[in-house]
Amino acid sequence: MYIEQEDILKHISAKPFHLISEAADELGVEAYVIGGYVRDIFLHRPSKDIDVVAVGSGIELAKAVAKKLGRGAYLSVFKNFGTAQVKAGDLELEFVGARKESYTHDSRKPVVEDGTLEDDQNRRDFTINALALCLNKDRYGELVDPFDGLTDMDNWLIRTPLDPDITFSDDPLRMMRAVRFASQLGFFIDPDTFDAIERNKERISIISKERIVDELNKIVLSPKPSVGFDLLDRCGLLPLIFPELCALKGVETKEGIGHKDNFAHTLMVLDRLSRTTDNLWLRWSALFHDIAKPATKRFDPRLGWTFHNHNFIGEKMIPGIFRKMKLPMNEKMKYVQKMVSLHMRPIALSDDEVTDSAIRRLLFDAGDDIEDLMKLCEADITSKNPEKVRRFLNNFQKVRSKLADIEEKDRVRNFQPPVTGEEIMETFGLPPSQPVGVLKEAIKNAILDGVIPNEYEAARAFMLQRAEKMGLKPARP
Ligand code: ATP
Repeated sequence: MYIEQEDILKHISAKPFHLISEAADELGVEAYVIGGYVRDIFLHRPSKDIDVVAVGSGIELAKAVAKKLGRGAYLSVFKNFGTAQVKAGDLELEFVGARKESYTHDSRKPVVEDGTLEDDQNRRDFTINALALCLNKDRYGELVDPFDGLTDMDNWLIRTPLDPDITFSDDPLRMMRAVRFASQLGFFIDPDTFDAIERNKERISIISKERIVDELNKIVLSPKPSVGFDLLDRCGLLPLIFPELCALKGVETKEGIGHKDNFAHTLMVLDRLSRTTDNLWLRWSALFHDIAKPATKRFDPRLGWTFHNHNFIGEKMIPGIFRKMKLPMNEKMKYVQKMVSLHMRPIALSDDEVTDSAIRRLLFDAGDDIEDLMKLCEADITSKNPEKVRRFLNNFQKVRSKLADIEEKDRVRNFQPPVTGEEIMETFGLPPSQPVGVLKEAIKNAILDGVIPNEYEAARAFMLQRAEKMGLKPARP
């Protein structure tokens, strides 16, 4: 990875870097920018978080730098961790003293002692993350690359600086990080490093679910997420962290009829969707859209393989899986549930005869998420037959234009029935009870089916008429 020294210097030309330089020289310590920021200079990626290592006290260096920066700089000291942070404008500088780490078997919390720059680089996870740039005046911009990280970058390789078995056993989160960087940067995992992940995969059990999900989210957000999920699968981590996704693997054949491999299909949908959206939860919806296929799979001699109701069963499976994986149990989960439950609807609509009523119901159920749902459904067309793909996508275009027509005409997206439950109770002198729900539902259906327009007067007249049939009399005329 060739880069002019001038370019490197440009990335450390901002005032704070020069103030670190001055402060380090005054304190008589060596200071280096290290890790992701240096890696990203060589990869031409933008990066804001800057890690600085001092061979000495990181906290003292941070204090001196904050003082030099003066007003507008904010210092936070984390004494227990021996680290400090300085915020200046949109730069975030993290300071730490160079350290040597040793691990015990049952924890990823190491015993830490002061160390040299070399000790500090030894504890880094990958060669490309161990690059350091000196900031002291007489060596300003000098690269320290003891593990030949630059060559690995040229070869697009993720490799541990030391024995990978020790690196991964010490801190098994690094296995997830290896896969994440491969997926995020489009790198390959060096074969020896990969083999060590396979050997150490069970160690992932000492890592918290939250940290695993942080890495999974970064994999899901990478340009081609299947790279990460394929690697997780091949090294054996996937069944340990997301067994329900693994269960989609495989093809069964009966009476000469096979079904598609739903694991490969799911990853293809995710990749296709990732070309059109950065929405993390829409991408997760792709991962979950067929999650209930194994549970609902049947062989029918007349119909072949069926997966009846896999969308609804999938919706029901999601809270359990989210809870277990420590994914958020809030509106994000509800959104994924909604996408999964509705993902069969647009395709059903694209059959020749599409009624206005069916379109209205879809708009009502999807609300503002209708565009996301359409994206998911379009990505879901993974047939190898180009004619079929063309036909489906063409049909979706028709559905989209009908959706736009109906929305303009009837405004049913996010619609609330114009007569409220309270008004029903008041009109008929009813307490909260079943007839109130029945009437409310009847009004909603009448609007969605186009029996009455989405307007107050029509809805009230309809309510009075329906109530009469139910034997209800208005308490006040
Ligand atoms: P990103 O910002 O995309 O997560 P990054 O490399 O900056 O990438 P951080 O998690 O911020 O990642 O870590 C900063 C640096 O700290 C890394 O480049 C690496 O040198 C080191 N590092 C982080 N986590 C570990 C770990 N678990 N084991 C060893 N070194 C690590």
